[in-house]
Amino acid sequence: MNRDKIKNAIRNIPDFPKPGIQFKDITTLLLDHDAFSESIDIFCEEFGNSEIDLIVGIESRGFIFGAPLALRLGCPFAIARKPGKLPAETVSAEYELEYGTDSVEIHKDAIKEGDRVLIIDDLIATGGTAQAVGELVTKCQGDITGFAFLINLAELKGSDKLKPHPVFAIIDF
Ligand code: AMP
Repeated sequence: MNRDKIKNAIRNIPDFPKPGIQFKDITTLLLDHDAFSESIDIFCEEFGNSEIDLIVGIESRGFIFGAPLALRLGCPFAIARKPGKLPAETVSAEYELEYGTDSVEIHKDAIKEGDRVLIIDDLIATGGTAQAVGELVTKCQGDITGFAFLINLAELKGSDKLKPHPVFAIIDF
């Protein structure tokens, strides 16, 4: 698998959405059929032999990678969303932002007790979002199998927050 092809298909936008942030724009990867499809192949290769009952994708770019992976692995797909978006009964978890807090929600009936759950997003930065989604899984009595990301901003050491769970990323920046 050619990870350089995937890395080169991701566009860096400096100072978006604010000064100092190097925004990793995956829309260019999505326009590149080979690179997008190869990224799903790599996730499949990594998790094809894992025992996973459910994939949870994190709003919104986690949906783009989580849904095709769930179809390829033959398992159900649930979505973790920003507050107020999901129509049925939810559980929620808060996480810290630079200023203040935010939260994520999941439908209460999306995860069954004992489900082995893989959590997926496009990118891990500080790890706060993924950690909060992990909390949702635990609150619903699911078991976290691991976390998967297309991109890890390695110097932020976000994966430390997700210990002791395994963290897989296709690309480190
Ligand atoms: P964090 O909670 O700090 O790990 O942030 C992860 C979430 O924010 C993911 O859903 C990412 O899509 C988004 N995100 C954070 N930093 C970036 C970045 N530099 N480029 C693109 N997306 C980012």
